[in-house]
Amino acid sequence: MLLSDTTADLYARFQQCRAVSTDTRQPQDGTLFFALNGPSFRGAAFAPQALEKGALFAVVDDAELAAANPERYFYAPDTLLALQQLALFHRRQLGSMPIVAITGSNGKTTTKELLHAVLSRRFRVQYTRGNLNNHIGVPLTLLTISPEAHDMAVVEMGANHQGEIDSYCQYAEPTHGLITNIGKAHLEGFGGIEGVAKGKSELFRYLAAHCGTAFVNTADARLPELSTPVAQRITYPSAGDTYPAKLVAAAPHVSLRLFDGTPIEAAITGAYNFVNLAAAAAVGAHFGVPTADIAAALASYDPTNNRSQLVRTERNQVILDAYNANPSSMAAAILSLAARPGEASQKVALLGDMFELGAESEAEHSALGDLLAQQQFGTVVLVGKDMHHALRPGFQHFVTKAEATDWLRQHPLAERQILVKGSRGMGLETLMELL
Ligand code: ATP
Ligand code: MG
Repeated sequence: MLLSDTTADLYARFQQCRAVSTDTRQPQDGTLFFALNGPSFRGAAFAPQALEKGALFAVVDDAELAAANPERYFYAPDTLLALQQLALFHRRQLGSMPIVAITGSNGKTTTKELLHAVLSRRFRVQYTRGNLNNHIGVPLTLLTISPEAHDMAVVEMGANHQGEIDSYCQYAEPTHGLITNIGKAHLEGFGGIEGVAKGKSELFRYLAAHCGTAFVNTADARLPELSTPVAQRITYPSAGDTYPAKLVAAAPHVSLRLFDGTPIEAAITGAYNFVNLAAAAAVGAHFGVPTADIAAALASYDPTNNRSQLVRTERNQVILDAYNANPSSMAAAILSLAARPGEASQKVALLGDMFELGAESEAEHSALGDLLAQQQFGTVVLVGKDMHHALRPGFQHFVTKAEATDWLRQHPLAERQILVKGSRGMGLETLMELL
């Protein structure tokens, strides 16, 4: 990415500000406001309000507005590009500070949070808050890294089409990178699983071209090969890797052993989280965090964000995983439920539609139905119109959540292990009160 002639001027203003803001509903005092355009609004229209509420400067694509008050307005023909260029300028001020980029189909946020917990034992770490992992969230995250207050940063990068990860790398200039896995997520935008592999591996290609270090999950079918262009590779979690790890048990919580035998009892559940934990341990060990500290950090990480949360209700044990779903994470969650101790007849899968699958939606929902039928869970409740393709004898299917709610009221579940999972738009966590 090229900087613009005015990026240095903009940076001088940024340095006078407390933070960057993009939303006038958030506090503005002392901020640099970027008037970003939305699908149905022009950001510049909100700029006067941001200044009134305390923003020091506003970056706008309205030349007339900017010319009328050059003290407070800063003109940029493309405010989003200006934000990304500012992020790059700032990243370069951070010099050789390590920036660990995390992408992949599933488990980015979980791995990022785990990694932050581990690295924070020894370093001052800035990291992506929540899920701010897109073309706006990545530059905003970069702009919160302070050369004085931080030693390193962990940046989550989400993508649903080709070229996106590479574009983030152009302004984040990561020194290290980790791809959690290559799975069936955002198939529509990427163009199938091979498209996902190509898109996600843009991170490895960037690291290869810039002498970076790749953390390679050798348990994934595609990642070892995709990482070959990178000279500096750290592998996990298989035997013979740089940092092997061993899954001891997946339920009720994941327990594992690190490469040096250190045992870890994590607070998260689901066999698929083993590799996320192993990833965080590998990166931590690479940066010199002692294994006792790695173990303590991983053991104390407790998710409260609808991701693989084990919730004990008055009547049931619920695996609340309603944050999102795609064919890979759905299969992992179902197999993980099947592997838990207890009778299959006492297990319940309460699942919602998987979005963004494009032409593969029908086949993927149907494959899910076959996988579910093999498990012989006592109860399968499917919600959403696409889940119609997963319907098999003995399953319940409802097009709307309201219908599923009625059914759950009439058929209360007790003494069960219940997996709740669906795409974000399904919002299945609202069914919790019935469980
Ligand atoms: P997003 O694309 O929304 O940012 P993400 O990649 O950040 O998602 P998380 O938020 O960490 O992923 O996890 C979302 C869900 O993905 C979890 O609740 C779990 O069901 C599933 N998941 C997490 N890790 C894995 C994994 N390693 N393999 C398969 N599924 C996983
Ligand atoms: Mg995420």
